[in-house]
Amino acid sequence: MPYFGVHQSISAGFDAAVYDAAAMGYDCVQIFSGNSNRWDNKPISETAARKFQEALAKTGQYDPLVHDSYLINLASPDEALHEKSVARFTDELVRAQILGVPRVVMHPGAAKDDSKEAALDRVARSFDRIFESIPENTTQVLVETTAGQGSYLGGTFEEIAAIIAACDHKDRLGVCLDTCHVFAAGYDFRTKASYDAMFEQFDRTVGLDRLAAFHLNDSMKKLESHGDRHDHIGKGEIGLDAFAMLINDPRFAQKPMYLETPKKETEEGEAWDVLNLKALKALLN
Ligand SMILES: [Zn+2]
Ligand SMILES: [Zn+2]
Repeated sequence: MPYFGVHQSISAGFDAAVYDAAAMGYDCVQIFSGNSNRWDNKPISETAARKFQEALAKTGQYDPLVHDSYLINLASPDEALHEKSVARFTDELVRAQILGVPRVVMHPGAAKDDSKEAALDRVARSFDRIFESIPENTTQVLVETTAGQGSYLGGTFEEIAAIIAACDHKDRLGVCLDTCHVFAAGYDFRTKASYDAMFEQFDRTVGLDRLAAFHLNDSMKKLESHGDRHDHIGKGEIGLDAFAMLINDPRFAQKPMYLETPKKETEEGEAWDVLNLKALKALLN
């Protein structure tokens, strides 16, 4: 059985994110390690990190994951923005290590007016530079599949594979597959045949051994729309059948699967995070 996680706000503390996720029945949690929409970041206190680790131990949660800031664009052809992104992503890895979180998931970024080829290479070069600048840091980086909107990288498995191939520190890299993003990017996996074909293609390009985690989100937008709008499990264009195949796939039985579905409560005042988890568990064989 895979284990289910949920993206949680840290506004009430790193430890509160863990306790709240556990109270809803989740096995793991994804967090931002700071303010995802600001370049500056408050340092993480020793106490906050200790309380976070205590919360994980007390609730029996494993595989916490940090999601990087949305501002970061390691692919940016703009020198100033690229340098800022390198500094901030370095800090993401340092902060994760302070918290005791083994992995950081990141969006590969956007090429803007540059070629995708050059941008993919720039991401790989940035990883090498960052890893080498903090040799004592062991944080793993998970490159996330994206909806491939505009000049965004990561909308095809080939692009993800190209980043990994160009990186000198491949042992530090894995992949997080976001169901909403790959669907919006044009990968259909709603039938057994298309599901098998998609993962066969993933295996041929990236390699299934790199697939370290999933983001489980249904999609408000249609197949190949390149629109990134997460929907509740089974309520969007992907539908329950595809999620049933995924969460019962023995190849992914030991993989963490994090929900990033909308947080707003239902009209009846029920928490969607609880309902989505219930929907998923009902699909387990
Ligand atoms: Zn995601
Ligand atoms: Zn998304």
